[in-house]
Amino acid sequence: MFDQFKPPKPVGSGLVIQPVGQRVLAEVDALERGNRVTHMFGLHAQNGKRVLDVIYDLVGPNVDGLAIHRAALFDALWQAMQTRNGITHVTAADVTSVRQNTDSIEVFTTTHDVHGPFDLCIDSAGAASPLSPIKAKPLGYGAIWGTSIGPKRTFQSTTSASATSKPHR
Ligand SMILES: Cc1cc2nc3c(=O)[nH]c(=O)nc-3n(C[C@H](O)[C@H](O)[C@H](O)COP(=O)(O)OP(=O)(O)OC[C@H]3O[C@@H](n4cnc5c(N)ncnc54)[C@H](O)[C@@H]3O)c2cc1C
Repeated sequence: MFDQFKPPKPVGSGLVIQPVGQRVLAEVDALERGNRVTHMFGLHAQNGKRVLDVIYDLVGPNVDGLAIHRAALFDALWQAMQTRNGITHVTAADVTSVRQNTDSIEVFTTTHDVHGPFDLCIDSAGAASPLSPIKAKPLGYGAIWGTSIGPKRTFQSTTSASATSKPHR
């Protein structure tokens, strides 16, 4: 497993893991405990317009989002990886390209190292992957995404089942 990071570490704040993601994490024994999210609801601060309204109950019974901090998710995945044999983790490996041969594939990094040959290469370098033919378009705006101490209040529930004591930010 190659990653540009040195050392491996979590990035970011909290997130909501969707039902399909929870099933994947359970499959690799990395499903962490978090806060159950049954309803996500957001209003535009200026005009009060509804901008987010996701109710999981519509997907199926007992199907929820899972609110978790990315550091906890990283730790669960990292621990799960340690229990597997045969995974070599190569850090500070900035992958630039791959070369596909008839029955194998090699991985190249910025330091001109050649890794492999491998039977298979899975590109999980995210939206800006240099290996993907799909090129991410930069957005014309940004956002601050962090974890902060919120005001001591709970959000008013819009359904009887969706009262939350710890808001996801
Ligand atoms: C502010 C924000 C909030 C979000 N909230 C949610 C949410 O609540 N729920 C949800 O489901 N999703 C959420 N998302 C989306 C979610 O974060 C992404 O869909 C997810 O991280 C994508 O995972 P990934 O593994 O494909 O890529 P990434 O998480 O981007 O991971 C890519 C990995 O590849 C490595 N890498 C990249 N390029 C190279 C390279 N050239 N060589 C070597 N290594 C490389 C990176 O270091 C990284 O470890 C949010 C995103 C943002 C920005």
